[in-house]
Amino acid sequence: MQFDAKIPTGPIEKKWEKHRFEMKLVNPANKRKFDVIVVGSGLAGGSASATLAELGYNVKCFCFQDSPRRAHSIAAQGGINAAKNYRNDGDSVFRLFYDTVKGGDYRSREANVHRLAEVSVNIIDQCVAQGVPFAREYGGLLDNRSFGGAQVSRTFYARGQTGQQLLLGAYQALARQIHAGKVQMFPRTEMLDLVVVDGRARGIVTRNLLTGKIESHAADAVVLASGGYSNVFFLSTNAKGCNVTAAWRAHRHGALFANPCFTQIHPTCIPPSDDTQSKLTLMSESLRNDGRIWVPGKEGDARRARDIPEGERDYFLERKYPAFGNLVPRDVASRNAKYVVDDGKGVGPTGVGVYLDFADAIQRLGKDTIEARYGNLFEMYERITGENPYQVPMRIYPAPHYTMGGLWVDYNLMTTVDGLYAIGEANFSDHGANRLGASALMQGLADGYFVLPYTIGDYLSQHLGEEKIGPDHAAFQDAERKVGGDIERLLSIDGKRTVDSFHRELGKLVWDECGMSRTADGLKKALKRIPQLREEFWSDLKIVGNGEGLNQSLEKAGRLADFMELAETMCRDALDRQESCGAHFREEFQTEEGEAKRNDKDYSYTAAWEYKGADQEPALHKEPLEFENVKLTQRSYK
Ligand SMILES: Cc1cc2nc3c(=O)[nH]c(=O)nc-3n(C[C@H](O)[C@H](O)[C@H](O)COP(=O)(O)OP(=O)(O)OC[C@H]3O[C@@H](n4cnc5c(N)ncnc54)[C@H](O)[C@@H]3O)c2cc1C
Repeated sequence: MQFDAKIPTGPIEKKWEKHRFEMKLVNPANKRKFDVIVVGSGLAGGSASATLAELGYNVKCFCFQDSPRRAHSIAAQGGINAAKNYRNDGDSVFRLFYDTVKGGDYRSREANVHRLAEVSVNIIDQCVAQGVPFAREYGGLLDNRSFGGAQVSRTFYARGQTGQQLLLGAYQALARQIHAGKVQMFPRTEMLDLVVVDGRARGIVTRNLLTGKIESHAADAVVLASGGYSNVFFLSTNAKGCNVTAAWRAHRHGALFANPCFTQIHPTCIPPSDDTQSKLTLMSESLRNDGRIWVPGKEGDARRARDIPEGERDYFLERKYPAFGNLVPRDVASRNAKYVVDDGKGVGPTGVGVYLDFADAIQRLGKDTIEARYGNLFEMYERITGENPYQVPMRIYPAPHYTMGGLWVDYNLMTTVDGLYAIGEANFSDHGANRLGASALMQGLADGYFVLPYTIGDYLSQHLGEEKIGPDHAAFQDAERKVGGDIERLLSIDGKRTVDSFHRELGKLVWDECGMSRTADGLKKALKRIPQLREEFWSDLKIVGNGEGLNQSLEKAGRLADFMELAETMCRDALDRQESCGAHFREEFQTEEGEAKRNDKDYSYTAAWEYKGADQEPALHKEPLEFENVKLTQRSYK
């Protein structure tokens, strides 16, 4: 398969400006002749839908929640990066670009990351204009804090609810367009198939989750903003409904899936309390600004935290990485937590956890300051664990959190299916092999507010005056029949095991073999077991109820069927990449100090997988990565 990243020529700081000028525009009167489908109403889909409608396009926006305001973006806590340099501490567009490429361990596309850094400043202006209540300093300027992987303060935040406030901003803009009749909103509606006619994405087939009705929707372009796939691990910090279905079904129609094994394990989550847990909770990384991470210096020390004297504690990140200390990137912090737990120094009832301690910060800054910064997070922690983090250290452990992999897109955010775009966490994004904190919100909003609205116009302008295709077209009828048939197949299995029991088993397997660290043997084991599990799923699944109304087991089963296929491609991707980079840690490839050891000569590429059928091996395509503006080095945070 041929594919082209369409990176504009010229110096990096001029590429986006030049490209914007060269792209064709659609005049205002013609914009209303175009229909665009947006699947997703989170920060990426909400911002894109509102902006496209504001420009004059007719938008249909879909989400499976009861309101667009409940998209998973609402959970984002810590903040959003932007190269505003309000602190005058040496930040710049180039530094944000540089940090992001380095943070991703040199496995992202330079041109995209530079554009992201450029538009980061516009995002903050846009959100402030919408009324997003970012934290402010005494003098009135927007406040900033630091996040892992950076030595400057560039993270804008609204207490520990940044995602919620940003989403309310995007939602207001969306609601305005719903009211104006330019956006038709379809809540509680799940996309179950993509419709491609003559090689072009022309619409989707959906199921109304309340009535079970299957319907077709046609458009001139389709945008997937359907979020990430961390729930392949079953336990993750994502909302339970997050899934890969929209992206995976597009993958089946020819959209390449890039770097599926690049998944982020976030270091600061509340550890699971036992094997029956169904959801994990994030404690924002912003806590690492003031909290100090430590474990007892000796193995099996069962004393309470406060009874362990200073000299008998191991502040392992501060010890190993003096320059960045507790603010090393997420992959480094997570791996090091795993090492101390593997060494028997873990804390808490299960021994799987490390301390995040605020005693010093409270003494230095006062409880009021800490409460003002993190009050809602402390409250949430106490509600879940019954422990008061003002008095005893929090316990944290890494958990699946974000997926850098996703649908492959070119510089215009178009997938390998003509007219099909992917934005936000659903695409393979600008984060390479590791995402730095506070950069997902930045990327989702960059895509939705500032990139897609330009690039989609260039595409649509080439289709002005063409005949429309409606949902009565045979391709839609075929797709509806297929979706109906798949649902029937799931309902008719009538086996003995629940969806969750299959999902839990799949999740544990993927976590053990394709989680925080990976080996060729483990990955081969998973690749043997997953097809067996898939077969068991299709012969022994039990779904109660029918397809004619709300049926959450049915919804989950359809999503799990896709996770099973994805899990296999993830493991294949991890096995193929015989190097360690960022969050992809292959135990066979590490430096003497236990750091990720890249192999730039052989693996400096984006892996883009082509679907060949559920029982066939996918085909690997490679997009070579070229670095002209950053120097590839062994990442060092010492
Ligand atoms: C707990 C938590 C905290 C975080 N904190 C931060 C932070 O501080 N800073 C930061 O930068 N990032 C943070 N992140 C990451 C960030 O929140 C997400 O990456 C980002 O919000 C994803 O936005 P999105 O619009 O791409 O997807 P989402 O917000 O997940 O939205 C997906 C949308 O797609 C819809 N959808 C999905 N599939 C279908 C389908 N088949 N049919 C119809 N609709 C569908 C959903 O209904 C939803 O509307 C955090 C993530 C988590 C889990």
